[in-house]
Amino acid sequence: MDSYKGLGMITEVFSEENRDSLHGNIGLGHVRYSAAEKESRQDVQPLVINYIKGTLILANNGNLTNGRELKEELARTGAIFQTEADSEVVAYHIARERLNTRNAEEAVRNAMTKIHGAYSMVIASPRKMIGARDPFGFRPLCIGKRDNTYIFASETCALDAVGAEFVRDVLPGEIVTVTKEGMSSDTTLCGNQIRKCIFEYIYFARPDSYIDGISVYNSRIMAGKILAQMHPAKADIVVGVPDSGNAAAMGYAEETGIPYGTAFVKNGYVGRTFIKPKQSARESSVKIKLNVMKEVIKDKRVIMVDDSIVRGTTSEHIVRMLKSAGAKEVHVRISSPPFLYPCYFGTDVPSCDQLITYNNTIEQICKLIDADSLGFLDGERLHEMIGGDTGYCDACFSGNYPVEPPKEE
Ligand code: SF4
Repeated sequence: MDSYKGLGMITEVFSEENRDSLHGNIGLGHVRYSAAEKESRQDVQPLVINYIKGTLILANNGNLTNGRELKEELARTGAIFQTEADSEVVAYHIARERLNTRNAEEAVRNAMTKIHGAYSMVIASPRKMIGARDPFGFRPLCIGKRDNTYIFASETCALDAVGAEFVRDVLPGEIVTVTKEGMSSDTTLCGNQIRKCIFEYIYFARPDSYIDGISVYNSRIMAGKILAQMHPAKADIVVGVPDSGNAAAMGYAEETGIPYGTAFVKNGYVGRTFIKPKQSARESSVKIKLNVMKEVIKDKRVIMVDDSIVRGTTSEHIVRMLKSAGAKEVHVRISSPPFLYPCYFGTDVPSCDQLITYNNTIEQICKLIDADSLGFLDGERLHEMIGGDTGYCDACFSGNYPVEPPKEE
């Protein structure tokens, strides 16, 4: 099996030459969302594991809640780790289980009974590809098909990009195996305790994706409408902070009848600010990422809709940008409830001491970010954005963790 990986955007890592050097009839790729301060090449996935039964390649999205304990246990039995990634712990477990099972999917199932937390993973061996989702279904995973080729992807927009048809979502707890003969499914670990991540709809996913049958775009429009009902304001224009704030801003405008406008021009060649693990990198990338169109907001009372406030630095910067471009008033509306608790399931919601919403009242935050008013989506109405389904995790807003958080060091 050949692999090629590196740090940076895909276009920076892959050239035509190194892409075309990869041959075969199974392919596995991964774009890492860094939830840790450290950025190292070793942690870039997919991980390639050579063991006595052959080779396994694994790509994973999520975070284990018992990853540290499992790693310690394995280390005590002589295991040597090359990465900081939970995915290596998962791969080790699958490889060990494989020694006593008839096939790789059985090994994946046994490993899944030991690993806890959030994971949506794809595993490839020379003859098969396996997609598996944790029983809570925190992270998305869907199946597509083009001719006789099956595709697993986190989001349906990836299927559109390669001209594949959406087949279905992998169920929480399901293990789907694809071989030359076709597709098979093992639902032994599927249960009723489903807790999909609601933040996927608010921020992570692209608006042109559908996750578990729900349009991300529609859910954001709905969030904007609810926000407008709860926190109206007198204004001349509603603008969204790109990209995830745009659809919510449209929903807000639709509900209030205030015109929607595009105030920001985004430089698409810089990474998303939330993703930059280091604060210094995050701040400098905001400056080159967004610019304001003065013509749109000059002398206007502006409602600015964004998806979330984490540390508050980005919001403060954007409000100032609008004001220095001539906005008379800036009313900030956030299409999610205040972040009050950390996420242990693969989202980089930082510890409480760094969360502006944990340490300040709404009035204080409003002053800190220099806004004229501030309103958040109410936690009570949050689930309305996805049609009222309660099978969703909202722990970073409510503190109701579906799985016991990892023990503090
Ligand atoms: S805690 Fe928040 S970000 Fe993490 S899985 Fe739950 S809803 Fe998603």
